[in-house]
Amino acid sequence: MSSEKHQSATPIAERIEQFLYQHAQMYSPDIFLLGTHYREGRSDRTTTKPEIPEKPSASRNDRDAVKSIPVVGEQRSVNHRAQLLDEFYQEIKDCQKCKLAKGRTHLVFGAGAPDARLMFVGEGPGREEDLQGLPFVGPAGQVLDRMIKRLGFERDEVYIANVVKCRPPQNRDPQADEVEACFPYLQRQIDIIQPRYIFCLGRIAAHALLGYKAEMATLRGRIHYYKNSKVFVTYHPAALLRNQKLFWATFEDMKLFRKVYDQEIGDKPPMETPNKRA
Ligand code: SF4
Repeated sequence: MSSEKHQSATPIAERIEQFLYQHAQMYSPDIFLLGTHYREGRSDRTTTKPEIPEKPSASRNDRDAVKSIPVVGEQRSVNHRAQLLDEFYQEIKDCQKCKLAKGRTHLVFGAGAPDARLMFVGEGPGREEDLQGLPFVGPAGQVLDRMIKRLGFERDEVYIANVVKCRPPQNRDPQADEVEACFPYLQRQIDIIQPRYIFCLGRIAAHALLGYKAEMATLRGRIHYYKNSKVFVTYHPAALLRNQKLFWATFEDMKLFRKVYDQEIGDKPPMETPNKRA
């Protein structure tokens, strides 16, 4: 068999893997595909800072490019992930790394399925969350619950965590030094769970995860990437409680996520358009 024939008989996935490996060895582990950024293996937030990708196009090529980004990393069982999360919680539960430790009742680690495909990231615990030690259990949590349902998921099949694990006083925004101190904890959670999709709830979560600051208008309506996860940005549920006009914009963000999810997984019933805010 000629080498040319042999090459064409090689499975396409193997050839892509070979190319990625050779590229990483010869040039850099950073690869840009149609405005999106793929980095082989794991890296921290600063080295994965992406260009803001173009709005997703309906063209077949763009959709295929999104799908072609390989998922790499260790594959773990759900029990192993649960054990790793538990060990990690034990490791950080008495954390004193930043000034938020002083005012907390409980460190709010996160909750949900250790092998969740979909992860929600908020900014920090509020009063109810601080008291109960669980994320999104107050009024904003009820809005998030409805959002999860509307997306076609159950709360116990997603994972919910925050950028900072301790409540900022008077529910103020977390400060830069607090985010910097706590962000490695979120990174570790994402590394363990390896969610395929992440929804950032509000600009603070988006800025922390994506590593750059931009207006919500710029961040929403696009697919971003964090390591091997596709990242979507929408308003924080607490913002919806304050401003009901944001409901429809949030619904648009949910539709974008479901469009991608339906293309890639497609195991949920169609998302219904609500006839009123709920
Ligand atoms: S907010 Fe994070 S870094 Fe600060 S004390 Fe709490 S767990 Fe530690």
